[in-house]
Amino acid sequence: MGILSAKLSAVKPSQTKAMTAMAASLKAQGRAIITLSQGEPDFDTPENISRAAVGAIHAGHTKYTAVAGITSLREAVVRKFQRENNLTFSVDQITVGCGAKQLLYNALVATLDEGDEVVFPTPCWVSYPEMVKLAGGTPVAIETRRDKGFILQPEDLRAAITPKTKWLMLNSPSNPTGAVYSRKDLEALAEVLREFPDVWVLSDDIYEHLVYGEAEFCTIAEVAPDIAARTLTINGVSKSYAMTGWRVGYAGGAVELIKAMNTVQGQSTSHTSSISQYAAVEALNGDQSFIREFRDAFEARRNLVVHLLNEIPGLECERPDGAFYVFAGCHALIGSVTPSGKVLETDMDFALYLMEEAGVAVVPGSGFLADGYIRISYASSEDELKGACIAIARAVAKLVHKAA
Ligand code: PMP
Ligand code: GLU
Repeated sequence: MGILSAKLSAVKPSQTKAMTAMAASLKAQGRAIITLSQGEPDFDTPENISRAAVGAIHAGHTKYTAVAGITSLREAVVRKFQRENNLTFSVDQITVGCGAKQLLYNALVATLDEGDEVVFPTPCWVSYPEMVKLAGGTPVAIETRRDKGFILQPEDLRAAITPKTKWLMLNSPSNPTGAVYSRKDLEALAEVLREFPDVWVLSDDIYEHLVYGEAEFCTIAEVAPDIAARTLTINGVSKSYAMTGWRVGYAGGAVELIKAMNTVQGQSTSHTSSISQYAAVEALNGDQSFIREFRDAFEARRNLVVHLLNEIPGLECERPDGAFYVFAGCHALIGSVTPSGKVLETDMDFALYLMEEAGVAVVPGSGFLADGYIRISYASSEDELKGACIAIARAVAKLVHKAA
């Protein structure tokens, strides 16, 4: 009998992390690699936030905190939800954890029993199905279509719900497609949810501030207040404030659920770093002007990358409305042959070829439960993005198509 649990044997490692680790190890061997495999703003954390953290250290805020997070941070979260999302919470309806990632995990562990189902649209973030499995539940993917903008259709949601469904997980703007759900899209989903009063909604709003052009960010608890009591709204400072490494996420929801999530956290990590929590207070309460600056920079990069990728024969992508990912179709390149004679059978083969031949790290679509795509994070400098697209174009030009 091996040491690993049967549960873990069904869980795949994170492909965003795996591709990024592979890129780092090639870099350590002296290879020039452009890493576009991890969704992480390249900007520095704004100075006022870093100063607040240093101040917290000097003020001796270096001890354990309450499991749910320091009161001043939970109060800042209450104000943020009110100010930006028109959602009213009391402080005991808020919890803080080591990134939105841990809050998603805590929520699933706190609520799933063996056989409980969690439905979510695909393409989806790599961690959703695996977290559901880790928590003992059954992930149920609902495929969305590219010609519908990768938006979950109400009839497909209705068809996927069974008496075992506990949660619907929503993520807008979406990782990996960049799709943004409009108010109308969310209203249509809420209409279906009214037929199923026992299904809860987990709204992952981590890319809230990264919406471009005419697109408008909406969250389901605001759009459908009658669903709010069974909605857990999750967000964090990683993407909006360039604070990925600080590990601060937060959630607002029903007191009973938040308490249960605190129990999970209190028996595992206790809480996120006290210093990071003081930094997050400053992020949420302090100057917000750089959010727009970050957003504008991402919008320009999105336009650049979409343009350059669409010039490469065999790759195709729409212009996504949000987040900082381009999800490019590479179906036409599957089956082609590399200069060393290898046939590219899958999007993973193609991603590995790009790593090897172009020195560019991307994540294959299969990691997001959508074969025949690659995800490119454009949260990098314009120079890097241009260099990466040129290198990808050269590598693709060396492929011999199976029909040739
Ligand atoms: N949700 C989605 C959709 C993500 O892409 C990520 C990745 N950062 C997270 C949640 C988690 O973010 P963090 O843990 O850094 O707050
Ligand atoms: N969420 C980001 C991504 O998808 C960061 C890596 C991760 O946590 O998976 O790339």
